This record gives sequence, C-alpha cells and structure tokens, in this order.
Amino acid sequence: MKNRRDFLKSTGLIAASAVFSPHVLLKATQPQKTKLGIALVGLGYYSTDLIAPALLKTEHCELKGIVTGTPSKVEIWKNKYGLADKNIYDYNNFDQIANNPDIDIIYVILPPSMHREFVVRGAATGKHIFCEKPMAPSVADCQAMIDACNKNNVKLSIGYRCQHDPNLQQVIKVAKERPFGKPKMINSAAGYFDGRTTHWKQNKALGGGVMGDMGVYALQGARMAAGEEPISVIAQASTTRPEIYKEVEETMMFQLEFPSGAKAACQSSFGINMNHLQVNYEKGWLKMEPQSGYGNNKGSMSDGTIINFPLPSQQPKQLDEDALSIIEKKPMLVPGEEGLRDIRVVEAIYKSVKSGGVVKI
Ligand code: NAD
Repeated sequence: MKNRRDFLKSTGLIAASAVFSPHVLLKATQPQKTKLGIALVGLGYYSTDLIAPALLKTEHCELKGIVTGTPSKVEIWKNKYGLADKNIYDYNNFDQIANNPDIDIIYVILPPSMHREFVVRGAATGKHIFCEKPMAPSVADCQAMIDACNKNNVKLSIGYRCQHDPNLQQVIKVAKERPFGKPKMINSAAGYFDGRTTHWKQNKALGGGVMGDMGVYALQGARMAAGEEPISVIAQASTTRPEIYKEVEETMMFQLEFPSGAKAACQSSFGINMNHLQVNYEKGWLKMEPQSGYGNNKGSMSDGTIINFPLPSQQPKQLDEDALSIIEKKPMLVPGEEGLRDIRVVEAIYKSVKSGGVVKI
C-alpha cells in the first residue's frame, strides 16, 4: 500500500507543498465528502432559532460543531444536536478546528465587529467560511477577510439568504433582462421595532446601528432592483428614542443614484415594522412585500405576473446551495466581494450623515 509520501509524490503534491500550507495539502489528499460538517461560531438568536434548525433539513451539510464563549450552552447544544465532545470549542481554542476532519465550514454568526477576527482566524484553519451579514463595519475589514480566504484557498460566502430566494431572484432577473425598460424610481424599506436597550444593535463598538443590521436589506433591495452599483448617496440619520440610541442611529433614510439615472429612496429603522420594495421602470412596475422575510416573500408586476414561488424558509436552501458550491468547486452565489459592495455604500452613507451633503461612491 502506498504511504502518504508516495501518494504526494505521485500526485505532484510534494512540489506543491513548497507553495501551499499544510492544511491545503491535507485537504487535497482527503476524499471529497458529499455532506459537509459545519461549526457555528456564536450561539445567539440567529444560530439558535434559524441556522441550527435549518441544518436539520439540509442534504449537503450538517451541524457538527460549535464555538461558544458561554459554557452553559454546551450541554444544551450537545444534547439537542448530538455533538461530539471533540467538536466543541471556545473562542480561545477555536483555531484547533484546523485539525478536525469533521468540520469543513466555519459559520461566523457574531456581532458584526467580531466578523473580521473570526473570519481571518477561521480562514487560517483551512476551513471554508460562511459569515453573516453585514460582512463587517468597514471596507478595510471586508478586504482583510477576502484576502485571508484567498490566501488560504478557502471559499467565503456572506449570509445574504434573500439572494437564494427565487422570489428575490425574480427582481434580479427583471433588472438584468429589462422587460419594462430601465428602472427609474426605487423605494426600498426594511425595519422592525426593537424593544431591547443594551443589545449590540445599540452599541457602536460592536457594529450596531440600523445600518449594521436591517439597513443592508434596504440597500440590497435597491441594488438588486437597479442591477447596478450606486454612484452617489445622500443620507440622514435619526432617532425617536435618544435615551436608547445614544451612540448609533435608530433610523437611516438614504437616497441612492445609479449610473443609468435611476434613483432609490431607502429607509431602515429599529423603530417601526416595514418591509417592502417598489420599482418603477420606464414601462411598468414591480412590487414585493415582504421583500426580505425568512420566507414567503411575494409580489407582483405590472404585466399581471404574480411573484410567489413557494419557499417557506430560505435558510436550508441557502446552506445547501453554498455547501454544494464548495463540493462542486463552483463560485459562491454571494461571495465576500458582494458583502464588501454593501459596506462601501454604508461607509458613504455615514460620510453623508456627517457632511450633510451628497457623497460620491
Ligand atoms: P445575538 O446577539 O442574538 O447573538 C450574538 C452572539 O454573539 C451571542 O451568542 C453572544 O453570546 C455572542 N457574543 C460574543 N461576544 C459578544 C459580545 N462582545 N457582545 C455581544 N455578543 C457577543 O445576535 P444575532 O441576532 O444572532 O446576530 C448575529 C449575526 O447574525 C449578526 O451579524 C446579525 O446581523 C446576523 N443575523 C442575520 C440574520 C439573517 O437573516 N441573515 C438574522 C439575524 C441576525
């Protein structure tokens, strides 16, 4: 039987070892799995209520490990999901995932200001990375995350679940194929009433403010509907609860201008429930409401088309499609570059709030 060195030699991997890190080599010598193991980093609301339950319904990936800073959660998760002791990590020993063949993907579901650290450390383990939206608070962070994944030859996907939803894909298709001509006016809104007072969403250092959460859905709606990148923005931040929103905005209104001349009026808030997208084209219109729910997004178009592809829950589809892209070595549907595009606009939005004027992007 061939030993590992003979195998490496016969496949030319010894020469490659001068170029690639040990985990790249190790991966290259392992058989391709058909179901990838995921470790969730951060066991808050989204992991607990949405992603872990979704991973019970997926075909191409499954929950295999957790990374948590809260020891009291370990037993609960182990019992609920049958996790092995060796697949439980904390934020300090997290890097040892590099040696764990059960884990193929690290899914970072922490407050936005922590995404960069855990994506960069995660990429260094040689595991593929999923990271929640918004990608990070700054373009520099996003770029560092992309660079780390490229350097370690791992995939990076941002958790923009709506881009996996056939209902929102219809919006993208209309922008691309232009059956009603060019988009002229877009209205995109995403918000909910958040009653919490000391959550990361109210904390600047942790990446809070409505643009660190719902704001990117309003922005994504506008960008998907326009089918192009905005060239300028004017924005206004406000709050109706200054006792809670001391360091970050509760509400952001922003107006985008696109190269084709289309304009988008966008609003996002932690003070009111709203979720819709309206697009007026040269010769027709499209409406979605809701536009960024976890499921059951629906709408209509001026030619009588009803947009209502049945999808009760986006997350299993997102997880399976992203896992399959890794298995089949295909590009990710929502790569890091797409997360960065939003943050470039978010930075311009904050600049405009500060200056009070139009900011070129
Ligand atoms: P959460 O507050 O419920 O959970 C955050 C987790 O991070 C907790 O487990 C907490 O213990 C941990 N954590 C570690 N260090 C922390 C610190 N210093 N401060 C606060 N928490 C700390 O938040 P969430 O709603 O689960 O959001 C997490 C990420 O998921 C965010 O990026 C958010 O935007 C994203 N999210 C995405 C969706 C979606 O639909 N794609 C929905 C909800 C949240």
